Amino acid sequence: VSSISCSARAPAIALVDCNNFYVSCERVFNPALAGRPVVVLSNNDGCVVARSNEAKALGIAMGSPFFACRDLLRRNNGRACSSNYSLYGDMSFRVMQTLQQFAGEVEIYSIDEAFLRCPRPRDAGLTAWGQAIRRTVAQHTGIPGTIGIAATKTLAKIAARIAKRDPARGGVFDCTGHPDIDRLLAGIDVAEVWGIGHRHARKLNGCGIDTACQLKYADDGFIRKHCTIAGLRTVLELRGESCLPLEQAPPPRQAIGSSRSFGRPVRSLAALREAVSEYVSRAAEKLRRQQATAGSLVVYVMTSLHSPHAPRYANALTCRLPVRTAYTPELIRQAHAGLERLYRPGYCYKKAGILLTDIGPDARRQLPVFADGAYTGAQQRLMGAVDRINARYGSNTVQCASSGTAKTWSMQRRYMSRCFTTRWSDIPVARA
Ligand SMILES: [Mg+2]
Repeated sequence: VSSISCSARAPAIALVDCNNFYVSCERVFNPALAGRPVVVLSNNDGCVVARSNEAKALGIAMGSPFFACRDLLRRNNGRACSSNYSLYGDMSFRVMQTLQQFAGEVEIYSIDEAFLRCPRPRDAGLTAWGQAIRRTVAQHTGIPGTIGIAATKTLAKIAARIAKRDPARGGVFDCTGHPDIDRLLAGIDVAEVWGIGHRHARKLNGCGIDTACQLKYADDGFIRKHCTIAGLRTVLELRGESCLPLEQAPPPRQAIGSSRSFGRPVRSLAALREAVSEYVSRAAEKLRRQQATAGSLVVYVMTSLHSPHAPRYANALTCRLPVRTAYTPELIRQAHAGLERLYRPGYCYKKAGILLTDIGPDARRQLPVFADGAYTGAQQRLMGAVDRINARYGSNTVQCASSGTAKTWSMQRRYMSRCFTTRWSDIPVARA
Protein backbone atom coordinates (compact mmCIF):
# COMPACT_ATOMS: atom_id res chain seq x y z
CA VAL A 1 0.00 0.00 0.00
CA SER A 2 3.01 2.26 0.49
CA SER A 3 3.05 3.17 -3.20
CA ILE A 4 -0.47 4.61 -3.01
CA SER A 5 -0.84 8.11 -1.73
CA CYS A 6 -4.15 8.87 -0.09
CA SER A 7 -5.58 11.97 1.45
CA ALA A 8 -8.43 11.24 3.81
CA ARG A 9 -9.09 14.79 4.98
CA ALA A 10 -9.81 16.57 1.69
CA PRO A 11 -13.28 18.08 1.15
CA ALA A 12 -15.91 15.94 -0.54
CA ILE A 13 -16.16 15.34 -4.28
CA ALA A 14 -19.28 15.68 -6.42
CA LEU A 15 -19.93 13.84 -9.66
CA VAL A 16 -22.24 15.72 -12.01
CA ASP A 17 -23.69 13.37 -14.62
CA CYS A 18 -25.99 14.62 -17.38
CA ASN A 19 -29.01 12.36 -17.86
CA ASN A 20 -29.32 10.58 -21.24
CA PHE A 21 -27.03 13.30 -22.55
CA TYR A 22 -27.34 12.95 -26.35
CA VAL A 23 -31.10 12.49 -26.14
CA SER A 24 -31.38 15.47 -23.77
CA CYS A 25 -29.46 17.65 -26.27
CA GLU A 26 -31.91 16.67 -29.01
CA ARG A 27 -34.88 17.39 -26.74
CA VAL A 28 -33.69 20.90 -25.89
CA PHE A 29 -34.23 21.91 -29.51
CA ASN A 30 -37.10 19.60 -30.33
CA PRO A 31 -39.56 19.56 -27.42
CA ALA A 32 -41.82 17.18 -29.37
CA LEU A 33 -39.33 14.47 -28.35
CA ALA A 34 -40.17 14.89 -24.64
CA GLY A 35 -41.78 11.89 -22.99
CA ARG A 36 -41.33 9.71 -26.10
CA PRO A 37 -38.90 6.85 -26.69
CA VAL A 38 -35.85 8.40 -28.40
CA VAL A 39 -32.61 6.77 -29.53
CA VAL A 40 -29.46 8.33 -30.99
CA LEU A 41 -27.65 6.31 -33.67
CA SER A 42 -23.95 5.76 -34.30
CA ASN A 43 -22.17 6.98 -37.44
CA ASN A 44 -23.98 5.92 -40.61
CA ASP A 45 -27.11 5.29 -38.52
CA GLY A 46 -25.87 1.81 -37.64
CA CYS A 47 -26.45 1.12 -33.94
CA VAL A 48 -28.09 2.68 -30.90
CA VAL A 49 -25.54 4.70 -28.89
CA ALA A 50 -27.92 6.55 -26.54
CA ARG A 51 -31.44 5.95 -25.26
CA SER A 52 -34.08 7.91 -23.42
CA ASN A 53 -35.59 6.28 -20.34
CA GLU A 54 -38.70 5.51 -22.41
CA ALA A 55 -36.56 3.69 -25.00
CA LYS A 56 -34.81 1.75 -22.20
CA ALA A 57 -38.25 0.77 -20.87
CA LEU A 58 -39.09 -0.71 -24.29
CA GLY A 59 -36.13 -3.02 -23.85
CA ILE A 60 -33.97 -1.45 -26.57
CA ALA A 61 -30.40 -2.41 -25.70
CA MET A 62 -27.33 -0.21 -25.98
CA GLY A 63 -25.50 -1.07 -29.20
CA SER A 64 -28.43 -2.85 -30.78
CA PRO A 65 -28.62 -2.42 -34.57
CA PHE A 66 -31.12 0.18 -35.71
CA PHE A 67 -32.92 -2.19 -38.10
CA ALA A 68 -33.71 -4.48 -35.14
CA CYS A 69 -35.59 -1.82 -33.17
CA ARG A 70 -36.99 0.44 -35.93
CA ASP A 71 -40.47 -1.12 -35.90
CA LEU A 72 -40.68 -1.25 -32.12
CA LEU A 73 -39.86 2.47 -32.01
CA ARG A 74 -42.39 3.32 -34.70
CA ARG A 75 -45.17 1.39 -32.96
CA ASN A 76 -44.50 3.30 -29.75
CA ASN A 77 -44.41 6.76 -31.30
CA GLY A 78 -40.64 6.83 -30.88
CA ARG A 79 -37.95 8.68 -32.83
CA ALA A 80 -34.39 7.97 -33.96
CA CYS A 81 -31.80 10.74 -34.33
CA SER A 82 -28.52 10.52 -36.23
CA SER A 83 -25.65 11.51 -33.98
CA ASN A 84 -24.99 15.25 -34.14
CA TYR A 85 -21.62 15.55 -32.43
CA SER A 86 -21.23 19.27 -33.16
CA LEU A 87 -24.38 19.88 -31.14
CA TYR A 88 -23.42 17.50 -28.30
CA GLY A 89 -19.87 18.87 -28.09
CA ASP A 90 -21.07 22.46 -27.87
CA MET A 91 -23.79 21.66 -25.32
CA SER A 92 -21.19 19.81 -23.24
CA PHE A 93 -18.94 22.87 -23.34
CA ARG A 94 -21.83 25.01 -22.06
CA VAL A 95 -22.60 22.60 -19.22
CA MET A 96 -18.92 22.52 -18.18
CA GLN A 97 -18.70 26.33 -18.34
CA THR A 98 -21.66 26.54 -15.97
CA LEU A 99 -20.07 24.05 -13.55
CA GLN A 100 -16.94 26.22 -13.29
CA GLN A 101 -18.90 28.84 -11.36
CA PHE A 102 -19.70 26.34 -8.58
CA ALA A 103 -16.25 24.97 -7.82
CA GLY A 104 -12.64 26.01 -8.02
CA GLU A 105 -11.57 22.54 -9.09
CA VAL A 106 -13.42 20.84 -11.94
CA GLU A 107 -12.30 17.72 -13.76
CA ILE A 108 -14.09 17.22 -17.06
CA TYR A 109 -14.25 13.46 -17.07
CA SER A 110 -16.23 12.83 -20.26
CA ILE A 111 -18.60 14.61 -22.61
CA ASP A 112 -21.38 14.44 -20.01
CA GLU A 113 -19.64 13.97 -16.64
CA ALA A 114 -17.48 16.12 -14.39
CA PHE A 115 -16.01 15.81 -10.91
CA LEU A 116 -16.13 18.93 -8.72
CA ARG A 117 -14.38 19.70 -5.45
CA CYS A 118 -17.18 20.56 -3.01
CA PRO A 119 -17.06 23.65 -0.81
CA ARG A 120 -16.97 23.09 2.96
CA PRO A 121 -20.60 22.40 3.85
CA ARG A 122 -22.49 25.25 5.49
CA ASP A 123 -25.78 25.00 7.36
CA ALA A 124 -27.77 24.10 4.29
CA GLY A 125 -25.36 21.24 3.59
CA LEU A 126 -24.15 19.98 0.25
CA THR A 127 -27.54 18.78 -0.96
CA ALA A 128 -28.71 22.37 -1.36
CA TRP A 129 -25.46 23.19 -3.19
CA GLY A 130 -26.08 20.24 -5.52
CA GLN A 131 -29.64 21.34 -6.16
CA ALA A 132 -28.40 24.82 -7.07
CA ILE A 133 -26.04 23.25 -9.62
CA ARG A 134 -28.84 21.19 -11.15
CA ARG A 135 -31.14 24.21 -11.36
CA THR A 136 -28.49 26.44 -12.92
CA VAL A 137 -27.34 23.87 -15.49
CA ALA A 138 -30.98 23.27 -16.46
CA GLN A 139 -31.61 27.01 -16.72
CA HIS A 140 -28.47 27.71 -18.81
CA THR A 141 -28.60 24.71 -21.10
CA GLY A 142 -31.88 22.79 -20.66
CA ILE A 143 -29.92 19.64 -19.78
CA PRO A 144 -31.10 17.60 -16.74
CA GLY A 145 -28.45 16.10 -14.48
CA THR A 146 -27.85 13.88 -11.49
CA ILE A 147 -25.33 14.60 -8.73
CA GLY A 148 -23.61 12.23 -6.33
CA ILE A 149 -21.58 13.63 -3.44
CA ALA A 150 -19.11 11.57 -1.39
CA ALA A 151 -15.65 11.47 0.16
CA THR A 152 -14.03 9.94 -2.95
CA LYS A 153 -14.55 9.82 -6.70
CA THR A 154 -15.49 6.14 -6.63
CA LEU A 155 -18.12 6.72 -3.91
CA ALA A 156 -19.41 9.84 -5.73
CA LYS A 157 -20.02 7.66 -8.81
CA ILE A 158 -22.02 5.25 -6.65
CA ALA A 159 -23.96 8.09 -5.00
CA ALA A 160 -24.94 9.41 -8.44
CA ARG A 161 -26.08 5.94 -9.43
CA ILE A 162 -28.27 5.74 -6.32
CA ALA A 163 -29.70 9.21 -7.02
CA LYS A 164 -30.55 8.14 -10.58
CA ARG A 165 -32.22 4.94 -9.41
CA ASP A 166 -34.33 6.65 -6.77
CA PRO A 167 -36.23 9.66 -8.17
CA ALA A 168 -37.46 10.54 -4.66
CA ARG A 169 -33.98 11.95 -3.97
CA GLY A 170 -34.61 14.79 -6.42
CA GLY A 171 -31.49 14.18 -8.49
CA VAL A 172 -28.94 14.80 -5.72
CA PHE A 173 -27.58 12.32 -3.20
CA ASP A 174 -25.02 13.40 -0.63
CA CYS A 175 -23.71 10.34 1.18
CA THR A 176 -21.06 12.16 3.22
CA GLY A 177 -21.98 11.55 6.84
CA HIS A 178 -24.45 8.84 5.87
CA PRO A 179 -24.95 6.57 8.92
CA ASP A 180 -24.83 3.30 6.99
CA ILE A 181 -22.76 3.48 3.81
CA ASP A 182 -22.19 -0.27 3.95
CA ARG A 183 -25.90 -0.86 3.47
CA LEU A 184 -25.83 1.38 0.37
CA LEU A 185 -22.81 -0.48 -0.99
CA ALA A 186 -24.52 -3.83 -0.40
CA GLY A 187 -27.09 -2.78 -3.03
CA ILE A 188 -24.46 -2.16 -5.72
CA ASP A 189 -23.15 -4.97 -7.94
CA VAL A 190 -19.38 -5.24 -8.03
CA ALA A 191 -19.56 -4.86 -11.84
CA GLU A 192 -21.19 -1.44 -11.35
CA VAL A 193 -18.24 -0.10 -9.36
CA TRP A 194 -16.25 2.49 -11.31
CA GLY A 195 -12.90 1.04 -12.41
CA ILE A 196 -13.90 -2.61 -12.06
CA GLY A 197 -14.00 -3.98 -15.58
CA HIS A 198 -16.08 -6.96 -16.68
CA ARG A 199 -13.13 -9.31 -16.55
CA HIS A 200 -12.26 -8.43 -12.96
CA ALA A 201 -15.93 -8.45 -11.97
CA ARG A 202 -16.25 -12.04 -13.20
CA LYS A 203 -13.13 -13.04 -11.33
CA LEU A 204 -14.40 -11.40 -8.13
CA ASN A 205 -17.82 -13.07 -8.51
CA GLY A 206 -16.00 -16.37 -8.78
CA CYS A 207 -14.40 -15.68 -5.38
CA GLY A 208 -17.73 -14.83 -3.75
CA ILE A 209 -17.38 -11.04 -4.02
CA ASP A 210 -20.66 -9.87 -5.58
CA THR A 211 -21.38 -6.46 -4.06
CA ALA A 212 -19.48 -3.22 -3.58
CA CYS A 213 -19.73 -3.80 0.18
CA GLN A 214 -18.00 -7.20 -0.06
CA LEU A 215 -15.33 -5.59 -2.25
CA LYS A 216 -14.79 -2.87 0.35
CA TYR A 217 -13.88 -5.48 2.99
CA ALA A 218 -11.87 -7.75 0.70
CA ASP A 219 -8.28 -8.58 1.64
CA ASP A 220 -5.78 -6.02 0.31
CA GLY A 221 -3.24 -8.62 -0.77
CA PHE A 222 -5.89 -10.66 -2.56
CA ILE A 223 -7.17 -7.62 -4.48
CA ARG A 224 -3.68 -6.47 -5.40
CA LYS A 225 -2.84 -9.93 -6.71
CA HIS A 226 -6.00 -10.37 -8.78
CA CYS A 227 -7.00 -6.82 -9.71
CA THR A 228 -3.61 -5.04 -9.70
CA ILE A 229 -2.75 -1.83 -7.90
CA ALA A 230 -5.59 -0.04 -9.71
CA GLY A 231 -8.09 -2.44 -8.14
CA LEU A 232 -6.60 -1.80 -4.72
CA ARG A 233 -7.02 1.94 -5.23
CA THR A 234 -10.69 1.35 -5.99
CA VAL A 235 -11.08 -0.65 -2.77
CA LEU A 236 -9.42 2.09 -0.70
CA GLU A 237 -11.72 4.64 -2.34
CA LEU A 238 -14.72 2.52 -1.31
CA ARG A 239 -13.38 2.74 2.26
CA GLY A 240 -13.44 6.53 1.97
CA GLU A 241 -9.72 7.10 1.40
CA SER A 242 -9.31 9.40 -1.58
CA CYS A 243 -6.60 7.95 -3.88
CA LEU A 244 -7.71 9.35 -7.23
CA PRO A 245 -6.98 13.08 -7.40
CA LEU A 246 -8.99 15.52 -9.50
CA GLU A 247 -7.23 15.95 -12.82
CA GLN A 248 -7.96 19.44 -13.98
CA ALA A 249 -5.68 19.78 -16.97
CA PRO A 250 -5.41 16.66 -19.08
CA PRO A 251 -1.97 16.38 -20.71
CA PRO A 252 -1.95 17.53 -24.36
CA ARG A 253 -2.84 14.70 -26.65
CA GLN A 254 0.03 12.69 -28.05
CA ALA A 255 -1.87 11.70 -31.17
CA ILE A 256 -4.75 13.27 -33.05
CA GLY A 257 -6.81 10.99 -35.22
CA SER A 258 -9.58 11.44 -37.71
CA SER A 259 -11.37 8.60 -39.43
CA ARG A 260 -14.86 7.67 -40.56
CA SER A 261 -16.67 4.76 -42.02
CA PHE A 262 -17.93 5.67 -45.47
CA GLY A 263 -21.65 6.08 -46.10
CA ARG A 264 -21.26 3.61 -48.96
CA PRO A 265 -18.28 1.48 -50.01
CA VAL A 266 -15.58 3.37 -51.92
CA ARG A 267 -13.60 1.81 -54.77
CA SER A 268 -11.66 4.61 -56.43
CA LEU A 269 -8.40 6.18 -55.37
CA ALA A 270 -9.90 9.59 -56.22
CA ALA A 271 -12.65 9.22 -53.60
CA LEU A 272 -10.16 7.93 -51.01
CA ARG A 273 -7.93 10.94 -51.71
CA GLU A 274 -10.86 13.27 -51.03
CA ALA A 275 -11.77 11.53 -47.78
CA VAL A 276 -8.17 11.46 -46.53
CA SER A 277 -7.79 15.13 -47.42
CA GLU A 278 -10.88 15.94 -45.37
CA TYR A 279 -9.68 13.89 -42.36
CA VAL A 280 -6.27 15.53 -42.44
CA SER A 281 -7.96 18.94 -42.48
CA ARG A 282 -10.01 18.10 -39.36
CA ALA A 283 -7.00 16.72 -37.48
CA ALA A 284 -4.75 19.63 -38.49
CA GLU A 285 -7.36 22.04 -37.15
CA LYS A 286 -7.22 20.30 -33.75
CA LEU A 287 -3.43 20.30 -33.89
CA ARG A 288 -3.33 24.06 -34.41
CA ARG A 289 -5.94 24.59 -31.68
CA GLN A 290 -3.46 23.19 -29.16
CA GLN A 291 -0.65 25.28 -30.70
CA ALA A 292 1.23 22.19 -31.74
CA THR A 293 2.91 20.64 -34.75
CA ALA A 294 3.24 17.01 -35.82
CA GLY A 295 6.41 15.21 -36.81
CA SER A 296 4.82 12.09 -38.18
CA LEU A 297 1.63 10.93 -39.85
CA VAL A 298 -0.11 7.57 -40.20
CA VAL A 299 -2.59 6.86 -42.96
CA TYR A 300 -4.71 3.70 -43.14
CA VAL A 301 -7.46 2.10 -45.21
CA MET A 302 -9.62 -0.97 -44.71
CA THR A 303 -12.37 -2.92 -46.39
CA SER A 304 -15.32 -4.22 -44.39
CA LEU A 305 -14.17 -6.95 -42.03
CA HIS A 306 -17.67 -8.41 -41.77
CA SER A 307 -18.68 -9.22 -45.35
CA PRO A 308 -17.55 -12.83 -45.74
CA HIS A 309 -17.52 -12.96 -49.55
CA ALA A 310 -15.85 -9.70 -50.56
CA PRO A 311 -12.03 -9.76 -50.57
CA ARG A 312 -10.57 -8.08 -47.48
CA TYR A 313 -7.67 -5.70 -47.22
CA ALA A 314 -6.39 -3.45 -44.45
CA ASN A 315 -3.11 -1.62 -44.34
CA ALA A 316 -1.41 1.36 -42.73
CA LEU A 317 1.65 3.41 -43.46
CA THR A 318 3.65 5.81 -41.30
CA CYS A 319 5.23 8.84 -42.95
CA ARG A 320 7.99 10.69 -41.17
CA LEU A 321 7.49 14.36 -42.07
CA PRO A 322 10.59 16.17 -43.39
CA VAL A 323 9.83 19.06 -41.01
CA ARG A 324 7.42 19.48 -38.11
CA THR A 325 4.32 21.22 -39.37
CA ALA A 326 0.66 22.04 -38.83
CA TYR A 327 0.19 23.29 -42.41
CA THR A 328 -2.81 21.47 -43.88
CA PRO A 329 -1.69 21.39 -47.56
CA GLU A 330 1.68 19.89 -46.61
CA LEU A 331 0.06 17.29 -44.34
CA ILE A 332 -2.39 16.39 -47.12
CA ARG A 333 0.46 16.06 -49.63
CA GLN A 334 2.25 13.60 -47.32
CA ALA A 335 -0.96 11.68 -46.57
CA HIS A 336 -1.75 11.36 -50.28
CA ALA A 337 1.74 10.06 -50.99
CA GLY A 338 1.19 7.41 -48.31
CA LEU A 339 -2.29 6.59 -49.59
CA GLU A 340 -1.01 6.01 -53.12
CA ARG A 341 1.38 3.38 -51.81
CA LEU A 342 -1.38 1.73 -49.76
CA TYR A 343 -4.08 1.70 -52.41
CA ARG A 344 -4.90 -1.56 -54.16
CA PRO A 345 -7.54 -1.48 -56.90
CA GLY A 346 -10.41 -3.96 -56.85
CA TYR A 347 -11.43 -3.62 -53.21
CA CYS A 348 -14.54 -2.04 -51.65
CA TYR A 349 -13.09 0.23 -48.99
CA LYS A 350 -15.26 0.78 -45.92
CA LYS A 351 -13.08 3.12 -43.93
CA ALA A 352 -10.02 5.34 -44.10
CA GLY A 353 -8.29 7.38 -41.47
CA ILE A 354 -5.24 9.35 -40.51
CA LEU A 355 -3.36 9.87 -37.28
CA LEU A 356 -1.02 12.76 -36.53
CA THR A 357 1.69 11.64 -34.13
CA ASP A 358 4.92 12.91 -32.57
CA ILE A 359 3.01 15.98 -31.47
CA GLY A 360 4.97 18.75 -29.84
CA PRO A 361 4.61 22.44 -29.12
CA ASP A 362 5.25 24.90 -31.92
CA ALA A 363 8.35 26.26 -30.30
CA ARG A 364 10.13 22.91 -30.31
CA ARG A 365 10.32 22.70 -34.07
CA GLN A 366 13.63 23.25 -35.69
CA LEU A 367 13.72 24.80 -39.10
CA PRO A 368 16.29 23.33 -41.44
CA VAL A 369 17.20 26.34 -43.54
CA PHE A 370 16.82 24.73 -46.94
CA ALA A 371 14.10 22.20 -46.11
CA ASP A 372 11.15 21.90 -48.44
CA GLY A 373 7.82 22.44 -46.76
CA ALA A 374 9.14 24.37 -43.74
CA TYR A 375 6.25 25.68 -41.63
CA THR A 376 6.82 29.35 -42.35
CA GLY A 377 5.26 32.43 -40.83
CA ALA A 378 3.20 33.00 -43.99
CA GLN A 379 1.79 29.48 -43.76
CA GLN A 380 0.95 29.97 -40.11
CA ARG A 381 -0.89 33.21 -40.85
CA LEU A 382 -2.81 31.54 -43.69
CA MET A 383 -3.88 28.64 -41.44
CA GLY A 384 -4.86 31.10 -38.69
CA ALA A 385 -7.11 32.95 -41.15
CA VAL A 386 -8.69 29.70 -42.40
CA ASP A 387 -9.38 28.53 -38.83
CA ARG A 388 -10.94 31.86 -37.90
CA ILE A 389 -13.21 31.88 -40.95
CA ASN A 390 -14.34 28.30 -40.33
CA ALA A 391 -14.91 28.96 -36.64
CA ARG A 392 -17.06 31.93 -37.46
CA TYR A 393 -19.00 30.75 -40.52
CA GLY A 394 -19.02 26.99 -40.00
CA SER A 395 -16.74 24.08 -40.69
CA ASN A 396 -15.52 23.82 -44.31
CA THR A 397 -16.53 27.36 -45.30
CA VAL A 398 -12.95 27.42 -46.57
CA GLN A 399 -11.43 24.06 -47.40
CA CYS A 400 -8.73 22.50 -49.55
CA ALA A 401 -9.96 21.70 -53.06
CA SER A 402 -8.59 18.17 -52.67
CA SER A 403 -11.35 17.41 -50.12
CA GLY A 404 -13.87 17.58 -52.97
CA THR A 405 -17.29 19.17 -53.05
CA ALA A 406 -19.75 16.33 -53.73
CA LYS A 407 -18.29 14.07 -51.01
CA THR A 408 -20.25 11.03 -52.15
CA TRP A 409 -18.26 8.96 -49.64
CA SER A 410 -19.41 10.91 -46.62
CA MET A 411 -21.44 9.48 -43.78
CA GLN A 412 -25.11 8.70 -43.93
CA ARG A 413 -27.04 10.69 -41.38
CA ARG A 414 -30.64 10.50 -42.42
CA TYR A 415 -32.17 11.68 -39.18
CA MET A 416 -29.79 14.43 -38.13
CA SER A 417 -30.92 17.52 -36.24
CA ARG A 418 -29.41 20.85 -37.17
CA CYS A 419 -26.37 22.47 -35.54
CA PHE A 420 -28.51 24.79 -33.44
CA THR A 421 -25.70 26.29 -31.43
CA THR A 422 -22.72 26.24 -33.77
CA ARG A 423 -23.96 27.32 -37.20
CA TRP A 424 -25.49 30.73 -37.87
CA SER A 425 -27.99 29.41 -40.43
CA ASP A 426 -29.27 26.78 -37.97
CA ILE A 427 -30.00 29.03 -35.01
CA PRO A 428 -33.64 28.51 -33.99
CA VAL A 429 -35.96 31.42 -34.70
CA ALA A 430 -38.52 32.38 -32.07
CA ARG A 431 -41.91 33.21 -33.50
CA ALA A 432 -44.03 36.02 -32.09
MG1 LIG B 1 -24.71 10.48 -18.35
